[in-house]
Amino acid sequence: SKVPPIILNNGVEMPQLGFGVWQVPDDEAEQAVGTALEAGYRSIDTAAIYGNEEGTGKAIAASGIPRDEVFVTTKLWNADQGYDSTLRAFDSSLAKLGLDYIDLYLIHWPLPSKNKYVDSYKAFEKLYSDGRVKAIGVSNFLPEHLERLLGETSIVPAINQIELHPHLQQRASREFHGEQGIHTEAWSPLGQGKGLLEVPAIVAIAQKHNRTPAQIVLRWHLQLGNVVIPKSVTPSRIRENIDVFDFTLDTEDLAAISALNEDRRIGPNPATFDIG
Ligand code: NAD
Repeated sequence: SKVPPIILNNGVEMPQLGFGVWQVPDDEAEQAVGTALEAGYRSIDTAAIYGNEEGTGKAIAASGIPRDEVFVTTKLWNADQGYDSTLRAFDSSLAKLGLDYIDLYLIHWPLPSKNKYVDSYKAFEKLYSDGRVKAIGVSNFLPEHLERLLGETSIVPAINQIELHPHLQQRASREFHGEQGIHTEAWSPLGQGKGLLEVPAIVAIAQKHNRTPAQIVLRWHLQLGNVVIPKSVTPSRIRENIDVFDFTLDTEDLAAISALNEDRRIGPNPATFDIG
C-alpha cells in the first residue's frame, strides 16, 4: 500500500492515514469508500452513529481486496454503553458491516456523567480476548478518563481518537498518550476544511512545496506521529489527501504550523458532552 503503517501497542499494524466517513449518507458511502479503496486507502473510520456501516461494508466487499488488507474501525455509540449493551452493539455493527471481525473498536465518547465507560471497556476486553476485534481503544477521552481506565482495566487502549488540527494541537493529551503507549489519532484533521485551509502561513507553505493546503496539514500530522482520517466525498480530494508520502516539511514549516495553536475546539468538550 501507499500508506506506511504504525505499530499499535499490541503489535497490530494500522495505516497511518485512513478515510473518515462521518456525515456521508449510507447510500453515498459505498461509492465514496469505493473511490478511497481504489485510490489506495486501506483504513476506513466509521461509527454506529454515522449510519453508514452497511454502505461501508458493501464497498469493502465489492472491492475484492482481501479482508486482512483493509483496516476497519467502528465505534460504540453513547446510548449503548454498559457491559451487555456493548456486546449487543458490537454484534449489530459487525452484522451491518458484513464482517466477522473488526480491526479497531472505540468507545465514541467517555460520557463521564453516565459513569459507564469502565464497564463498556470491560466488554471490549472480552471481545478482544474472544478474537472478534484486533485492537481496542477510545475516543474523546481526556487524560483523567484514561487514568481511570488504566487503573481499573487490564488492556492499555491502542488508540485515543481526539479532535486535533493546527488550531487545537492537544499537546497535553499527546504527551500523556506517548507516556502510556497509546497512539493519538486525529479527528477533523483538516479542521473540517473551513478557515484552516486559508490560513496564510499554511497557504505559504503549500506554495513553497507546490502542494495544496490540505496536503500540508496532513503532512504536519504525519510528521508529528498522528494517525489521520481525512474525509471527503469528492474523488479528486480523496486522491489528493492520500498523495502525501513523497515530500517532507522542514523544521521551519513544522514550527510555523505549530505556532497556529489556539486551543480552539470545533466539536463538543468531552468533559460535559452527554448526548445519547
Ligand atoms: P476533516 O477535517 O477531515 O474535514 C473534512 C472536510 O474538509 C470535507 O467535508 C471538505 O469540506 C473538506 N476537505 C477535505 N479534503 C479537502 C481538500 N483536499 N481540500 C479542501 N477541502 C477539503 O473533518 P471530519 O470529517 O470532521 O473528520 C474526519 C473524520 O474523523 C470523520 O469523517 C470521522 O471519521 C472522524 N471523526 C470522529 C469524531 C469522533 O468523535 N471520534 C468526530 C468527528 C470526526
